[in-house]
Amino acid sequence: MEIAIIAHDGKKAEMVQFLNEHKDVLLQKNISLISTGTTGDKAIKAGFEVNALLSGPVGGDAQIAARVAEGKCNMVLFFRDPLDRHPHEPDILMLMRLCDVHNVPLATNPATAELLIKAI
Ligand code: PGA
Repeated sequence: MEIAIIAHDGKKAEMVQFLNEHKDVLLQKNISLISTGTTGDKAIKAGFEVNALLSGPVGGDAQIAARVAEGKCNMVLFFRDPLDRHPHEPDILMLMRLCDVHNVPLATNPATAELLIKAI
């Protein structure tokens, strides 16, 4: 199972905390993590094995969206910061749209991510 993790800048610390709190699930052999670039760097520093793609603003969200469309990515945990502006908003909307098109579970905040992780 491939899970994508993405966190906007204001939410990256919360993402690392979330990953640490769910190590037992996320370090299972059948789970692989992909991420946008900077989120991935932070997760790798925290001890996780992550395939970090491009940084969000230069195409990372779009790369994850493509994997969702291709059926390669099975879940997206996206800690969005609704109080900040994002130059790559069109890519973010594309990612969310493609999750809906392909019925891929998408959490856009930590509370929902928690529920999805508990369901694995
Ligand atoms: P980042 O991208 O992990 O490279 O910061 C996240 C985003 O802004 O979509």
